[in-house]
Amino acid sequence: MRHLLSTRNLSRDDAVRILDIAEDMADVATREVKKLPTLRGRTVVNLFFEDSTRTRISFEAAAKRLSADVINFSAKGSSVSKGESLKDTAQTLEAMGADGVVVRHPSSGAPQTLAQSGWIDAGIVNAGDGTHEHPTQALLDAFTIRRRMHGSAARGRDLDGVSVVIVGDILHSRVARSNVWLLTTLGASVTLVAPPTLFPVGMGTWPADVRYDLDAAIDDVRPDVVMMLRIQAERMRAAFFPNSREYARVWGLDDARTARLAPGSIVMHPGPMNRGLEISAAAADSTRSTVREQVANGVSVRMAVLYLLLAGGGEV
Ligand code: ASP
Repeated sequence: MRHLLSTRNLSRDDAVRILDIAEDMADVATREVKKLPTLRGRTVVNLFFEDSTRTRISFEAAAKRLSADVINFSAKGSSVSKGESLKDTAQTLEAMGADGVVVRHPSSGAPQTLAQSGWIDAGIVNAGDGTHEHPTQALLDAFTIRRRMHGSAARGRDLDGVSVVIVGDILHSRVARSNVWLLTTLGASVTLVAPPTLFPVGMGTWPADVRYDLDAAIDDVRPDVVMMLRIQAERMRAAFFPNSREYARVWGLDDARTARLAPGSIVMHPGPMNRGLEISAAAADSTRSTVREQVANGVSVRMAVLYLLLAGGGEV
């Protein structure tokens, strides 16, 4: 693997391999010294043109646990805010000897542009591009689901037979897109639930069922996993639903809906959560919720990805 730009082109075997290596990385996190020498002497740059808390810290922790040197570059306060182009920024990083660049960018396709440009020779990891993809989020979600479903027997397994309902702002969600491709590749069935205004056009080609009624989806699908998405107000240029109270009432995971979920099912959210809007505080903090596990698992999954991209994918 040279770059990780999307989950769409990952095969089942690639995906299972990444998740298995992430299991090994998670084992490292339980040791007293949580560090491997694998990327000693390599430089990873976190190039963030958009705000992030979890993802940036998670990539930083992952790179450091593999002993890489890490440079955090946020576009605010840099020459990018003076109008420096992506090309010039990339060439600066190339001159500094970056081996891996983790990119978050408001424009869909920016990481792909970097990877194909020839401006920089580093391995590129997409850490979220516009409304397009967020592949490491989907990998950490798949890892979290696999662990909750199969516990210590998770290694080597896919998500065959697991049913996942993804609810909310599908239109603006790179998390939903990356998850649709990855979870279905791993054998899960995916149902998307949202108001009609929050579905993108051209969804007919996605390998997912579409529904507009959350209550009916919970009762008919009996999902193993309910994944709630954040309402991405910062990307909304129009009114997509009447008001937040109405959204929470019809499409939010409130306490009554949580109580109706099948035994053993889990509730996920990529964060940051709008508590009281797409998810109630009780649902977010319940024993079904994997929100904190998702954050912890993110480090293991990103270690696996950096290892595969930058260390050549030998034995861990
Ligand atoms: N943190 C995720 C992302 O960057 C989800 C979200 O922001 O709602 O896409």
